[in-house]
Amino acid sequence: MAESLSISPDELHRRYEEEAQKRIEFGVRDYIDMVDIADSDFDRDPYAEPLVRDALVEETDVVVIGAGWSGMTAAAYLTDQGVTDYKIIDKAGDFGGTWYWNRYPGCQCDVEAYTYLPLLERIGYMPEQKYATAPEIFAYAQLLGRTFDMYPHALFQTSVTGMEWNEERQRWRVTTTRDDVIDARFVVICGGVLHVAKLPGIPGVYDFAGPAFHTARWNYEVTGGGPESPMDKLGDKVVGIIGTGATAVQAVPKLAEAAKELIVFQRTPSSVSPRNQRPTTPEEWAEITAEPGWHERRMENFIEGTIGMQPEVDLIQDGWTEMFHIDPKMPPRNDEEARMLEEWDDLQMEKVRQRILDTVKDPETAQKLLPWYKISCKRPCFHDEYLPAFNRDNVKLVDTDGKGIDRVTPKGVVVGDTEYPVDVLIYSTGFDNTSPYHHRLGFDPVGTGGVTLSEAWAKGMYSLHGTLADGFPNLCMNQALQGGQHINIAYASTKTSEHIAWIIARALEEKVVIEADRPAEEDWFNYIIQSALPYFAYFANCTPGYLSNERKDADESMSRSACYMGSAVDFKRELEKWRSTGDMPGVIRTPL
Ligand code: NDP
Repeated sequence: MAESLSISPDELHRRYEEEAQKRIEFGVRDYIDMVDIADSDFDRDPYAEPLVRDALVEETDVVVIGAGWSGMTAAAYLTDQGVTDYKIIDKAGDFGGTWYWNRYPGCQCDVEAYTYLPLLERIGYMPEQKYATAPEIFAYAQLLGRTFDMYPHALFQTSVTGMEWNEERQRWRVTTTRDDVIDARFVVICGGVLHVAKLPGIPGVYDFAGPAFHTARWNYEVTGGGPESPMDKLGDKVVGIIGTGATAVQAVPKLAEAAKELIVFQRTPSSVSPRNQRPTTPEEWAEITAEPGWHERRMENFIEGTIGMQPEVDLIQDGWTEMFHIDPKMPPRNDEEARMLEEWDDLQMEKVRQRILDTVKDPETAQKLLPWYKISCKRPCFHDEYLPAFNRDNVKLVDTDGKGIDRVTPKGVVVGDTEYPVDVLIYSTGFDNTSPYHHRLGFDPVGTGGVTLSEAWAKGMYSLHGTLADGFPNLCMNQALQGGQHINIAYASTKTSEHIAWIIARALEEKVVIEADRPAEEDWFNYIIQSALPYFAYFANCTPGYLSNERKDADESMSRSACYMGSAVDFKRELEKWRSTGDMPGVIRTPL
């Protein structure tokens, strides 16, 4: 393993910038997202049974929109608070959010299950392995749904089409694709982070003659097999997969085993470090869970261990905590620290590149797989079978040198002057995370005075803690912008759910309508931007991607979409401190 750089830091950083520029200048970076093609075959739910039900016309205390972790934990904490008159609505056919949709072969969570799974200590479940597979996580979501009796409240295969505040009745009217009309005192929007799948905005996407699908809508009718059984219909097929991000890194080894031939189309290589998966033993589990409060401590330990806080004991001891024992994104306090952080970053990426050179036998393929960017420009991947897959005779890497594929034809994929015929085409091209919030939701809430969220936030977002917004009474949002963040996405969203449930319970008890106060929102924004600004420098020269906002120049609106960049544990403490005052500072409470 690399202990020093094979080229000088100057040369290395020049290479980083050259590679980033290629992608900025030549890359086709337009996308088609599923919100815009919601009626197309690409967005069809391959997993749900047909459902027929009557439209509902109802009143309720709370509508929760979204049944992934944030919606589920919101429902759980509302139940804890004694608020049980609620509906939870999701387009999917069951609970789970990401884990409902992502059933591609090899799918698993890259954050340790003991840390990742929400409310794990309360549920008392022992994960099978250190890193849980998608089917196990989906089953856990169902277990969480049953434990908190959420199923009777659920409206699945139902998308919200709109919500409007009725000032006279002091209620939200929520409408859906199934013609439901639900009047609710409160709405909690838990729309998800990476839930709007996207396809490349290139010519020909609809022209391919064979089967084509996105990884988040895996079509097992075409591939055969299932999430946990080998795909048995690809043995005579040439399969093309576009994209080499965190999803493709997990899917490629399984496709390589199943397909006659697999062609991997790459625009930017991923960094792929060792995974070291292992089963959970009862002895280890007894040790991990010995002391009450273990889950909270473990989650906090993971956060601290991955933002350079170097806790005394590293409970997790995996690739994440090793790589981010020092966090190079951290704003340096002086030149010496800046140099040290840069060296750490450079060395981590050197190790990543060395692992590729050591594993991939064909030197030309190995060179193409080398990532040339800083460690946090893209989500680092951890996998032990991805790189060896390129040693198989049936796997071919087509590197587009940062440009991306040019177009899709009825027969296959075109890169430069070459057409690559394929029988099955798989888009592993990620999710929209940069378009405006209301666009990703697929509806535009209408607040007081008929003002929509898109109008109110035309110049950027205004919120208190990322959850409450002036002009939108009794609306709570669980999302990361102006809120908490961490690679363990479930942590901040669970803490936000707890916060939201507390607010709603208090407001119902006090019989008040709540709304954030604009000066309090400004104070919050000024506070978080101070925490976020120093991080902008790190991402400013990253290779484009959703973490660097595709390297678009930051205008006011974009800056207002910053997250709170103190630690996610500090974010939790901010919320707790605010709740402990008991009187909701910065929130206007109007008696009903
Ligand atoms: P990503 O956005 O990370 O990857 C999309 C891939 O498609 C990239 O390689 C991208 O290239 C490529 N691409 C896009 N357009 C084109 C084009 N026109 N031509 C060629 N290639 C193209 O999406 P993923 O689904 O892989 O991952 C999304 C996120 O989901 C991850 O970052 C992670 O947060 C999460 N995830 C988490 C997992 C977990 O275990 N917790 C597992 C899997 C995903 P380029 O890089 O150049 O943009």
